[in-house]
Amino acid sequence: MSRTHVPEREQSGSSSGGSPADELAKLRQQAVKLQDELTELRRSFDREREHFHATLEQHIAFEKLITDIAVYFIHLPSTQIQDGISYALREIGAFAGVDRMSVYLYADHTFTHLQGWYVEKGIIPSDPEPAIRTADISWWFDQISQLKPIHISDTAMLPAGAQRELAALNMHRMQSLLAVPLTYTQTLNGFVVASSVSAQHDWSTEELSLLSTAAQIIANALARQQLEQQQLLDDRTVHHAVADAAARATNEDELLGYVTQLIGEALAAENYGVLLLHEADHTLHTHPSYHDGQVMIRWEQAVAGRAVASGKPLRVPDASQAPDALTIAPDSRSVLCVPLRISGRIIGVVNVESARTNVYSEADERLLGTFAQQLATGMERIRLFAAERRRTAQQRTLARSAGSIAAALTPDELWSAMTTAAHQTLAADRIGIFLYDESSDAFSCPFSSGLSSKYVNALQTRFRDAPIVKASGDLQPVVVNDILEDPAAASLRDIMVREGIRAFASFPLSPSLTMRKTMVLYRNEPAAFTADDLATGQTLAHVVAIAIQNIQLFSEIKHSLGREQQLNEMARMLSSTLDLPTLLARITGMATELIGADAGLLGLVIDNQIMTYYPFNVPGSVSLLPMLKGRGVAWRIVNSGESFLLPRYHELPGANRDWIRAGAQAFIGVPIMAGDTRLGALELFSFSPDKRFNERDQALAKSVGQQAGIAIQKARLYSDAQQRAGALAAALAKQEELDKLKSLFVQNVSHELRTPLGIVHGHAELLNSGRLGELQSDQQRSVQIIARRVRMLTDLVRDFSALLASETQEFRREEIDPAWLAQSMLADFQMEADKAEITLEADIEQALPPLVGDATHLRRVLDNLVGNALKFTPAGGRVTLHVWRQDINILFEVTDTGIGIEDSQLDSIFERFYQVDGSTTRKHMGTGLGLALVKEIVEAHQGHVSVRSQVGVGTTFQISLPMGNNIPGE
Ligand code: ADP
Repeated sequence: MSRTHVPEREQSGSSSGGSPADELAKLRQQAVKLQDELTELRRSFDREREHFHATLEQHIAFEKLITDIAVYFIHLPSTQIQDGISYALREIGAFAGVDRMSVYLYADHTFTHLQGWYVEKGIIPSDPEPAIRTADISWWFDQISQLKPIHISDTAMLPAGAQRELAALNMHRMQSLLAVPLTYTQTLNGFVVASSVSAQHDWSTEELSLLSTAAQIIANALARQQLEQQQLLDDRTVHHAVADAAARATNEDELLGYVTQLIGEALAAENYGVLLLHEADHTLHTHPSYHDGQVMIRWEQAVAGRAVASGKPLRVPDASQAPDALTIAPDSRSVLCVPLRISGRIIGVVNVESARTNVYSEADERLLGTFAQQLATGMERIRLFAAERRRTAQQRTLARSAGSIAAALTPDELWSAMTTAAHQTLAADRIGIFLYDESSDAFSCPFSSGLSSKYVNALQTRFRDAPIVKASGDLQPVVVNDILEDPAAASLRDIMVREGIRAFASFPLSPSLTMRKTMVLYRNEPAAFTADDLATGQTLAHVVAIAIQNIQLFSEIKHSLGREQQLNEMARMLSSTLDLPTLLARITGMATELIGADAGLLGLVIDNQIMTYYPFNVPGSVSLLPMLKGRGVAWRIVNSGESFLLPRYHELPGANRDWIRAGAQAFIGVPIMAGDTRLGALELFSFSPDKRFNERDQALAKSVGQQAGIAIQKARLYSDAQQRAGALAAALAKQEELDKLKSLFVQNVSHELRTPLGIVHGHAELLNSGRLGELQSDQQRSVQIIARRVRMLTDLVRDFSALLASETQEFRREEIDPAWLAQSMLADFQMEADKAEITLEADIEQALPPLVGDATHLRRVLDNLVGNALKFTPAGGRVTLHVWRQDINILFEVTDTGIGIEDSQLDSIFERFYQVDGSTTRKHMGTGLGLALVKEIVEAHQGHVSVRSQVGVGTTFQISLPMGNNIPGE
């Protein structure tokens, strides 16, 4: 820019001298010149001002742009930093009028392209450019890593060492560029580069400043993004680390230890760890894992206490300045404290402290919160797991103990097993079994373990105050977790305290309302009985109750077992003896020995009239003659059903003099019973004055009486049955003999009748034919009657012998073609059918397999069926014979369109001599034997006959015969 040369002119002016006119002209000239110069000056000044103005405006626009971008980034969430960068590149690029803008990031000796803006393409968000190793662009890296901008106004002017860079720039057709480093806390993060492809360009200081500021904004934004990502990562790391610790820890203490260590590593703290809340006395106790130093503080004074009270995290920058802000370490200044919650309940705090002030940030608070949360989850899991494990262990122990409790056969065994079980499963230090009988208001303690006699005695006098007795009829357990606190224990508190008891639970043993039995378990320390404990206790009580019952039963059983065994022996013997006299002698002998008597006498009533006697060891002086009804002790017992137990026989009214004289002393007399019937009496005597029978003996004798009664009755029934069976067998034999005779007789008669009947029939037909001379009409009628009746008789005889034959099963075995059988049948009946004006037809399947059987008999079957069909079908009707094969059977069906049979008759028609119309005036002839014969023959061939019929419509008989070999006896 050129300036005026006024001083020169002044100089020349001062050195000249001339005429005034000349001077004036000169001056005028000078004035004009000055005027020109002045104008020129003003112009230049104006230009200057304009330029300044323009620069100012640009400057303002620049500032505004930078402010805009900065503000934009401030409000940008870290997840959208990329958008922010595109915005900045676009705005700056447009503002500066450059062709390209790019951001490269630096890490691991590599530059990667993050984003670009090309004037011709706009934003290039992805990374189309390959990463550049710093080793490949050492000149460039050398420049930029000194955190200095790189300014290249003409790429051609790059130094010789930058050949690679030149090649790269040429490839992108770049003519000039300006690159500024991206830095954060004085370290290289990358660079921003603006370039021009169209022309060489001298980059101004303003442009440099603009780019540098933008680079700073971008660098900060990237750093922020990175930091926040780091934060997220920390949270995740905490989750992971604590979860890992929870998995490793086998108990809560271990977990707290691990997590405390993690907190120490994650947060700058000299003093840190977990404090647990004791609500009862409003104190917080450091967990043993607390680092460093163990204290117990009242929560009102402490920072930690305030966190508990508010349920919120608390961050104190300087505890020395805050009131009521007691720290765990006395010299702590910064405190960060987060409540620890399990299932919504605060159980303590996680606390970190530092001797420096203002150490903890919001991010630290969040981090510690995550720790607390994760720790709580872990603790919860461990608690659940421990509870589950305890429950399983408890149940396993209980199951084991239950076995030995239930197996106990004596009270001692039971008490010992029960005490062990109560101790192992429920941590009971002492145990007592108490009985309270409501009806007599009596209290007793059959068993106790660990209880002093003083305590038990005190209970004896004050049992009415005991919660066990008071909880009348209630089958729920009574639980007192701390006798010092629970009002339910108030009445007995003094004696329990003296005994050293702190907690107890009582479990009912039996559901009986009058006799209340309870099992009480005591603990020396106050310890809550959990729901699991109660369930376990109830199960234990249940098992004990059963065991007590078992033991009672067992002792009773054992007591009577010996005698029972003898009795059983006797019963077995009695039931195996069926001969009555032997039996009676045995009963008397065994009963005498069983009861331990010296002599025995069994009286048995005969026909309700006479008592007969069966003796065992009876002295010879005693008469054994039968007694008439109503006389003597035995009859008295039988009549009244009484039983006697006497130390002296002679005291018995009606005592037998013989026995008294023989010296009978103790006496038992019992009835012999079979059900309610008194069969006789059993009398047992002892001759020794010292011997006495007791009630057990009497009961036993009664039982013998009952067993004996049953045995006697059985023996009697047996002999009866034997007699009856003999008679029956004889009758049957006779019957069979008669049957045989009858059959033989009928056979003979039939045989004898057949020939003369044939002759009579022949002669009758001869007469009827008129060959012996024409007969008068009434003669002819008579002859016809004779012929018809003879035919009937012949039929009857034929049927009879056929029936007998089928009964005695005289069947031949021959192969029969079913078709032939049917066909020949039809031929036989064709004439008869024509005469009766009935259509007879057949439907016979081709190539039927053969049957094996008796052709004569089978023919007779079809004979009867077709004969009946024709007989019971009026003129104009139809009879069809249908033969076919079905599975392994050949079926014959004879169907007619005749009168039919009532449903009610269908079963009866197969009986011998049955005819639906049994009257003498019936239309149809017949013997009533036909169908019986059919059935018998078919069944003898393993076949089956059936009938279906409808009155007025017709009847169908069906015969089913199995193919092949089916004659019985083969
Ligand atoms: P009967 O010699 O009287 O024919 P059956 O034993 O052959 O004796 O038959 C018994 C009775 O069954 C006959 O009296 C008749 O009432 C009835 N019955 C048998 N076959 C037929 C039929 N096809 N239609 C109607 N009723 C029949």
